[in-house]
Parts: sequence; C-alpha cells; structure tokens
Amino acid sequence: MRLCVCIAVLFPVFLAVGVTSSIFEMIPPISGLALADLRDTFEEVHNGHRHEAIDIMEPRGTRVHAVVSGTIRKLFLSKPGGSTIYQFDEPGVYCYYYAHLDGYVKGLREGMRVERGDVIGFVGSTGNANERAPHLHFEIHELGPEKLWWQGKAVNPYPLLVDTVKRAR
Ligand SMILES: [Zn+2]
Repeated sequence: MRLCVCIAVLFPVFLAVGVTSSIFEMIPPISGLALADLRDTFEEVHNGHRHEAIDIMEPRGTRVHAVVSGTIRKLFLSKPGGSTIYQFDEPGVYCYYYAHLDGYVKGLREGMRVERGDVIGFVGSTGNANERAPHLHFEIHELGPEKLWWQGKAVNPYPLLVDTVKRAR
C-alpha cells in the first residue's frame, strides 16, 4: 500500500521533469536550418574518436544561437575544438557544446546568463577543422551529479535537431 502511494506521488514528478527537460525546448543553433543541413554522424569515427556530435556546415561568420536559456559555463580554447562554448541549461542537467567558432559575440563571458536564441558566437574553423570547410560542431552532454563542464554522457543531437527544425517551420 505504501509503495503504491509512493509511485502515485512520484510519477507526476518524473513526468514533469521529463517534459520540462531543456533538450525538448531547444531551437536550432543556426537560423533557417533545414533538414537537408543535418546528417547523423554521432557514431562515425573522426580523428580516431567516436564523433558523438553533429557538424553543421555553414559559411564562416554565420551567427550561432543559444539553443536553450541557461548559463555560459566555460569559454575554452582547445587544440581540437578551437574556440568553444560550454553552456549549461537552467537546471544544470544538460551541457551544450559549440566548437570551431570563429569567435564569441562581443561581451560574452563565463557565468553570464543567456536566453534561448541569443547570438553567442560565429561559425568558423578554429581547432582541427578544415579551413575550407567551416562548420559548427555541436554536442549535448547529460551532466553528472558533480556538474563538471568537461564531463558528461553524450546524447545524440541529430534527432533532437530534426525536431527543432520541424518545430521552427
Ligand atoms: Zn565535429
């Protein structure tokens, strides 16, 4: 009996968490994105690693938008990723990672709050990207309990971005 009550009380809570999860509230990181621009390369091996990301080919300088509202957790210059942004969503459940950026939008800084749709950077080819093939390398990570920006479980962004494009129509 007590177990039943427990499930009855908790089930709506689980449901609410699932429904409000930021991955279902994403917008496309590039405005005017079409389904033809998306290709599932999550499982491909790139530079000796499982890609666990999506590459969106765009001209250099194309504006990159925050896919959800949240906080700029880290601005990091890495050898493979070039100029990168790690953005946490509001509850700190998911981290959104944008790489190979040509640069950040003026005034962007760590700890800053951004709204979904805000321009945060520009497409480029920094890091190990081909200079003649600028693109946005985009990842989603489910953060662990410690909420470390460099750690998390990769989630395939492809089906989620397909949904954002369909919703944006
Ligand atoms: Zn990539």
